[in-house]
Amino acid sequence: MREHLPFRAFVGLGSNLGDRVGYLSLARQGLEEHPLIAIKRTSSIYESEPVGYLEQDWFLNQVVEIATSLQPSELLAVMQGIENRLGRKRKIRWGPRVIDLDLLLFEDLVISTPELTIPHPRMYERSFVLIPLCEIAPDFLHPDGMNTRTHLQRHLETRGGERIRLYQG
Ligand code: ATP
Ligand code: CA
Ligand code: CA
Repeated sequence: MREHLPFRAFVGLGSNLGDRVGYLSLARQGLEEHPLIAIKRTSSIYESEPVGYLEQDWFLNQVVEIATSLQPSELLAVMQGIENRLGRKRKIRWGPRVIDLDLLLFEDLVISTPELTIPHPRMYERSFVLIPLCEIAPDFLHPDGMNTRTHLQRHLETRGGERIRLYQG
């Protein structure tokens, strides 16, 4: 039996190197195996064009909702442990990687430290975050009081047109 897991959080997963589907699956498994984390919802997998550093393959992205009793900094450490175990090498910023786990939202907390910013500082500019998040949590209220659906609508009115599609395998 898992003990009570009172906090709700959202984690964004991304991979654009090697067996991308396999890495997403191993990342979810890594979260689920932790005794103080349970996955509650999993979005579809989306395929998206790279942003920032363009000379690389398309990403697969997915968002999961978790329940946890960890504090945000502890959760981030678990996520980084999973990245390291799966062999992530940190080279080019926004460059290719086997796996990336970003902490998007944690309850309605706002955190701003050198190691951790919540909400994730770039999530509201990213279709590959907002579209899967809206699939699993359209009514979730963000710290600014707006729900995901509203954030996605606003984003779609202003976005640069980077391409994203449902990944069919
Ligand atoms: P981006 O942050 O734009 O998605 P990235 O995922 O490639 O880029 P990383 O190299 O994975 O960036 O992370 C850089 C640092 O960001 C990490 O060392 C971590 O301490 C910090 N960080 C700050 N806020 C967060 C957050 N909400 N989730 C994950 N990492 C964060
Ligand atoms: Ca990221
Ligand atoms: Ca990251």
